[in-house]
Amino acid sequence: MSETKKRILTGDRTTGKLHLGHYVGSLQNRVRLQHDYDTFILLADVQALTTHFENPGLIHNSIYDVAIDNLSVGLDPEHVTLFLQSQISAIAELTVFYSMLVSVNVLRHNPTIKTEAKQYGYDDLTYGFLGYPVSQSADITFCNADLVPVGEDQLPHMELTRKIVRRFNDMYGETLKEPQAMLSDCPRLAGLDGNSKMGKSLGNAIYLSDAPQVVTEKVRSAITDTNRISVKTPGNPDVCMVSQYHKVFNSEDYDNICSMCRSASIGCVACKKQLSEKLNTMLDPFREKRAYYEAHRDEVRDIIVSGSEKANKVGDETVKKVKDAMSISL
Ligand code: ATP
Ligand code: MG
Repeated sequence: MSETKKRILTGDRTTGKLHLGHYVGSLQNRVRLQHDYDTFILLADVQALTTHFENPGLIHNSIYDVAIDNLSVGLDPEHVTLFLQSQISAIAELTVFYSMLVSVNVLRHNPTIKTEAKQYGYDDLTYGFLGYPVSQSADITFCNADLVPVGEDQLPHMELTRKIVRRFNDMYGETLKEPQAMLSDCPRLAGLDGNSKMGKSLGNAIYLSDAPQVVTEKVRSAITDTNRISVKTPGNPDVCMVSQYHKVFNSEDYDNICSMCRSASIGCVACKKQLSEKLNTMLDPFREKRAYYEAHRDEVRDIIVSGSEKANKVGDETVKKVKDAMSISL
């Protein structure tokens, strides 16, 4: 059955727990499409090393956190292949081969690399960090993915992957599949602090695993219109994070809330309360599933082990094809 289905590959770095940005940017699409596509979900622990190599404990614990986040939003382990990047030798091998096809200058000018280097304060990039988009091309192509549901920050990496595939196929003959990116309706959810991206390494996120009172507290701390000094002053929803979240998570009330804000007929406290209630209602079923997996961590481990075995089989076939095409086999 699954041979006839197209394949999805996507995933997350194991650098911490997943947040609402992941949910609307990628996880929601994964859940929606999991029965129509043969879905591969990558726990990217090697890519996590590119920025968190000094914190192996965090990377290791995050393997379980990220796996449970994915399972708690409704990914069905009977249908999806959840696997660990470091266990897949094909990814490491393909990364080496693809690195011959990409110039250092192309990587240096990659806009996501530039933004992230600034975010981490890197002025001298490691070889591993600069090259992670090449490794990501290996993540995507080792399993012949057709579709990659991602947030907007990943588009430059998707473009690079497509270029590598075309270059490889032109040079060595048709071998690799050219994948397509899939953006969601909300490809970049902003952070509580007003940063244009909610990021797990940015400290500005509401996590899928946050308890109800934590969600309420965080929403209370979100940046609103700083010119709105009292409830009686009309507000400007265009510069308010809370209104942006209403738009995504409470779309049916969004227009009404914006007009009440502009006419000063709703205050920030009430507006934030509405939002946190809405978010907690959405998160409640995830919390139930999470409680199950937290209590059955051995089951989570088994899911990752068998997913990695399956992914390795697929990867070994791809590496054989690639080596044959490059005439580097005996
Ligand atoms: P880090 O800061 O450690 O890089 P991250 O929050 O960027 O973490 P990743 O694991 O790098 O998370 O990204 C996993 C997926 O989630 C990617 O497809 C990414 O585009 C998407 N994503 C992450 N943050 C957001 C966001 N704020 N809005 C929409 N999509 C997002
Ligand atoms: Mg990231």
